[in-house]
Amino acid sequence: MSKVHVFNAGPCLLPQQAIDSTIEALKDFKGTGISVLSISHRTKEWDQTMDECRALWKELLHIPDTHEVVFLGGGASLQFLYVAMNYLEKKAAYLDTGVWAHKALVEAQGIGEAYAIACSKDRNYCYIPKGFEIPSDLDYLHITTNNTIYGTEIRTDMDCPVPLIADMSSDIMSRPVDVSKYDLIYGGAQKNVGPAGVIFAIIRKDSLGRVSRHIPTMLNYKTHIDKLSMFNTPPVFAIYVMTETLRWIKDMGGVEKICEINEKKALTLYNEIDRNSMFIGTADKCDRSRMNVCFVMAPGHEDLQDEFLAFAKGEGMVGIKGHRSVGGFRASIYNACTQEDVEALVKCMQEFENMHK
Ligand SMILES: *Cc1c(COP(=O)(O)O)cnc(C)c1O
Repeated sequence: MSKVHVFNAGPCLLPQQAIDSTIEALKDFKGTGISVLSISHRTKEWDQTMDECRALWKELLHIPDTHEVVFLGGGASLQFLYVAMNYLEKKAAYLDTGVWAHKALVEAQGIGEAYAIACSKDRNYCYIPKGFEIPSDLDYLHITTNNTIYGTEIRTDMDCPVPLIADMSSDIMSRPVDVSKYDLIYGGAQKNVGPAGVIFAIIRKDSLGRVSRHIPTMLNYKTHIDKLSMFNTPPVFAIYVMTETLRWIKDMGGVEKICEINEKKALTLYNEIDRNSMFIGTADKCDRSRMNVCFVMAPGHEDLQDEFLAFAKGEGMVGIKGHRSVGGFRASIYNACTQEDVEALVKCMQEFENMHK
């Protein structure tokens, strides 16, 4: 097969190193003679993986002792419910920056009083609202740091007068994060740190227990903190692959180094979008995501969209069709995507421009 360049939005491209270790573990998990698919989660070998996974999360993101990290099933979408169950007592605010942010808000509204503190739907979510007032009586403010569909990102850890909760599904481990500024950071692993089937939640331990409702056992973060994510059968295979992916991040020089590489990749692609007369970016420049790069055909060239998609496909580009709500193209350049992949796409765009001169 000829070389492909994978820009899928999720599940994401994973590093080859993690895939190779996984192939070995599928045959024989840590010399047990048992596949990782059949290993009991009540073995010391599994305990080691679980401990390693937790330790890598803490090391790579410099998670302070005030916080604990747990790994659960159900997807980031179920976390929308966890958030409201565990934190919503009187009133919560949500920054509505896209479909996922909106879904999180709607889920909370099924539990209690929650509202959009600001919203960027007026321009199809192509920017991050700024300058909104945050009332001091909120239980929390919920933000979505990277808007996977629209290619916008909140890249700084804001100072927030109320507890801050963030869905970081699609930019976790792409940049250093000041975890101490958040009561909760959560997300699905499948955008940047693993395969589908596991979520991470980094929880400030003393932020729990503030609500008066009864929280069902499985939906209570405390259950999973107390049992170190082993209250019930954890998603063993997904956690294994995530651990190997984190090992790779560490081998690459950690999140700080990965962030530098990501910045260069994003700059390379955005520079081409801004230079190339055939394409324009859709997100406001100041809010551009370093993970999901969204662009469309420039005015006057709209009819060439399908032609570019076909051309790029022929050149080995996979997954660059934009989400149906934005159209055009989206290149997701998560951690495992290389500078070489990005340059292959840039070359494609340049050739396409030359073909139509
Ligand atoms: C993909 C995505 C989700 C939903 O994740 P699931 O694990 O499929 O439920 C939520 N938030 C963001 C920002 C996402 O990109």
